Amino acid sequence: MNNSDEVLEKLLGKSFTQNTILHRIKDLCLLGSRFSGTESEKNAQQYMIDFLSELNVSKQEYEFEYQGWWRGACNFYIRTDAKREFPAISLVLAPSTPDEGTKGRIIDCGGGSVTEMNRLKEIIPGNIAMVHSGNTEEGWLHRRIKYANAYKFGASGFIFANHNPGQLFPTGSVRSNRIGEIPAIGISKESYEYIKEMMNRYEDVTGKITVYNNYENTTSKHIIWEIPGVQKDEVIIIGGHYDGHDIAQGATDNAASIAVLLELTKLMVENNYVPYRTIRFIAFAVEEFGVVGSNILVNDKGVKNIVAMINFDGLVGHIPKHIACNGYEELYKAMLKLKEELLYEPKISKSIITASDNFPYMCKGIPNFCVYGEKPDPRAGRGYGHTSADTFDKISKVDAKLSLAFALVFIDKFSKLAELPKRLSDSEVVKILRDAKLEENLKLLEKWPFK
Ligand SMILES: [Zn+2]
Repeated sequence: MNNSDEVLEKLLGKSFTQNTILHRIKDLCLLGSRFSGTESEKNAQQYMIDFLSELNVSKQEYEFEYQGWWRGACNFYIRTDAKREFPAISLVLAPSTPDEGTKGRIIDCGGGSVTEMNRLKEIIPGNIAMVHSGNTEEGWLHRRIKYANAYKFGASGFIFANHNPGQLFPTGSVRSNRIGEIPAIGISKESYEYIKEMMNRYEDVTGKITVYNNYENTTSKHIIWEIPGVQKDEVIIIGGHYDGHDIAQGATDNAASIAVLLELTKLMVENNYVPYRTIRFIAFAVEEFGVVGSNILVNDKGVKNIVAMINFDGLVGHIPKHIACNGYEELYKAMLKLKEELLYEPKISKSIITASDNFPYMCKGIPNFCVYGEKPDPRAGRGYGHTSADTFDKISKVDAKLSLAFALVFIDKFSKLAELPKRLSDSEVVKILRDAKLEENLKLLEKWPFK
């Protein structure tokens, strides 16, 4: 009765009656941040290896070199009538300042788009550009684009302010796999509002950033394992990144998704589930440094036999689940047909996610998804993500189980499609990215792999 609906139903039942998904998420969170280059990261690797060994699943470890980065002391103050200090942290891959710090007038660049910075182009050079993490006048832009804009306009420093309240500092990388050009810090919304008030009162508000970070090349590894399918040579990748940010547990981003990969494996193996196509699970390393690990893997090993890629990034924590088809029309149509069979109706869109591990596969033309919990309020943006508040207590028990069940049904139904959408050619992928007006920003981010 392998691969029958009966097995699926049994697995579905177990995904709800067992509590193991919650234990798994908690275990991963309690290992610590799993930040690249830390002991916690190594412990997470060992945790996954031990888990798979217990299930008798053979695994591969793919090791690679990347630009390592470790946080050091960070100090930030402004001076008007008096010195006022604010708690701040360096953004990831930002350089250290000289010992005497980086000083400059603080320029409020709003959301940090080119439109906003253009209006200030006379005064940004040599000064500190301050932007918030909310929407810009050009719509939503990734932090790395805002940083690249600040650098391009000649800023000597970069302040990234949370747009959500709660005295939380946002973190995140400023470049992909290389050290950025100018120092960059994250501050809370409350500090940001305070500084803006001071700017209303005083014509010139100067700031000083002093940061000591460490950086050198180091190595990490992906953990890869498979469940062979009836169609052995057609491989569907189910991936998610296991690294988090050093200031948090990275519960929703992305320990919980990794817990789902592990629990899916356990359910499938223990119940002799044979997928129609081979499922290759990949726990990706070094995603938070700018989608580094998956990019290296795809460029090194290629995409032979890979017929689709499903990426879970922030799967647990919010409903409905959002299946982004990354601009791929045929994939989108196929998913609309499957929608009613997917346990409960997810949101299905053609949204293009370039800042997660599906993107290197997208660039190779592989039909690819990024799947995540849709935030109930779009104004909330990242919410707790990339702050110290992304912790285990934010995970709801029912949504953890629901996410596991959802992933199970989605993978089963999708992998059984008689015909999967074909791979796209380079020119077809380029057209999708150009039509979405992403070319310029991807080039700015050094993520445009085409001629
Ligand atoms: Zn993530």
